[in-house]
Amino acid sequence: LNTRKLSLNNTQKAFLAKDNTELKKVYWMFWLMGHTFLVRLFSRLTLLALHIKLPITGLIRKTVFKQFCGGETLDESQVVVSKLNKFHIGSILDYSIEGKGSCADFERTKNEIIRIIKLAKGNKAIPYTCLKMTGIARYALLEALNNGKEVCNEEKQEMEELYGRLNTICCEAVKNEVPVYIDAEESWIQGTIDGITEVLMEKYNTKMAIVQTTLQMYRKDRIDYLHKLIQKATTRNYLIGVKLVRGAYLERENQRALDLGIGSPIQTNKAATDQAFDEAVTICLNHIPRVTLCAGTHNEASTQYLVNEMKRLGIEKEDPHVYFSQLYGMSDNITYNLAAEGYNVTKYLPYGPVGSVLPYLIRRANENTAIAGQMSRELELIVKERKRRETQYLLETVETEDFIH
Ligand SMILES: Cc1cc2nc3c(=O)[nH]c(=O)nc-3n(C[C@H](O)[C@H](O)[C@H](O)COP(=O)(O)OP(=O)(O)OC[C@H]3O[C@@H](n4cnc5c(N)ncnc54)[C@H](O)[C@@H]3O)c2cc1C
Repeated sequence: LNTRKLSLNNTQKAFLAKDNTELKKVYWMFWLMGHTFLVRLFSRLTLLALHIKLPITGLIRKTVFKQFCGGETLDESQVVVSKLNKFHIGSILDYSIEGKGSCADFERTKNEIIRIIKLAKGNKAIPYTCLKMTGIARYALLEALNNGKEVCNEEKQEMEELYGRLNTICCEAVKNEVPVYIDAEESWIQGTIDGITEVLMEKYNTKMAIVQTTLQMYRKDRIDYLHKLIQKATTRNYLIGVKLVRGAYLERENQRALDLGIGSPIQTNKAATDQAFDEAVTICLNHIPRVTLCAGTHNEASTQYLVNEMKRLGIEKEDPHVYFSQLYGMSDNITYNLAAEGYNVTKYLPYGPVGSVLPYLIRRANENTAIAGQMSRELELIVKERKRRETQYLLETVETEDFIH
């Protein structure tokens, strides 16, 4: 009685927005991405080509960029935002600039986030926005603080500038009632990010969960951390927003632990990550309205689990404290079917100059390589939908011929 079966396999709904030509193009792209050696080759050649200034951005723009990004600018991305909104899917616009290091770059990113917040005001098509701390602060600074290194005067000044940027963003977010997710990154800078995010949540989340943190459940310590976060927010009486993800830096985390000869912070296997993700879902749901939850996942079992837990706990489908979210270009079967059922669903929609979103695109390509000789999840869905369309076409042709004869 406490379950609500979702039909996530309805590929017709999932690919409603794609005609046959588009579907064919996407098929070939995911087919290519299914080969680990091709993805590795593509990643290296692309970085090299951009480094020596070969004109390959046109090719990238028409292929992987078009699949996973909204456009090069905020204005350009509005086409995708409107298209998703027609299906009751919100967009989390992500100004996806990574690996920049100058103060001018950080200021530019801050200004862009403020533009998104203003555009999102009262706009159902853009219910949230997000930021990466490394988009507005120097990586080495975050790392030094994480290690508890004593900071020099220059670094103190940098920290003040970072808090200045964050306070400007958060004030604008409060004024326009647009929550901001703070993304999670590598564990060796995440301690700093967590510390800063907690300060911001306490300061700005008095009436609404404006600042929202991200927990990567592939980390062994995150269930304990979630309990501590909730306890602190309850004692000090503020709200918290939690985006749950499994985590995007698995290889890098394990490699670093190996290089340094330290224990890995990552769960011992995938099943442990899956279990922690679902456990965290239940903890969050049990603390609504103190906690607002966003489940950032493409995992069908976890999606179904969250749906069942909502039913069990008597939480309405459209409760504003529960969001589902997938990355743009991935798992449309989950997004479109959840939206059709009336749940709150969004797509993370990155945008930015082609060269700057490359690290993001490479992560997505790696995520879509085949596992143990099987087709990737995306490719399997596309193949299924192409077969369904072919069968439908044949049936319609036969019916027409019967009618003529
Ligand atoms: C809306 C949204 C926001 C996101 N924001 C962030 C963010 O802020 N920070 C971030 O890091 N990522 C973020 N991601 C990316 C996310 O971490 C990956 O998309 C996610 O890990 C893919 O997992 P899944 O939940 O879709 O499920 P699945 O595809 O079932 O799981 C794959 C994941 O399981 C974990 N895993 C795989 N093998 C093992 C193993 N042997 N041991 C332990 N764990 C394993 C890894 O995390 C892997 O990525 C976001 C994703 C979405 C949809």
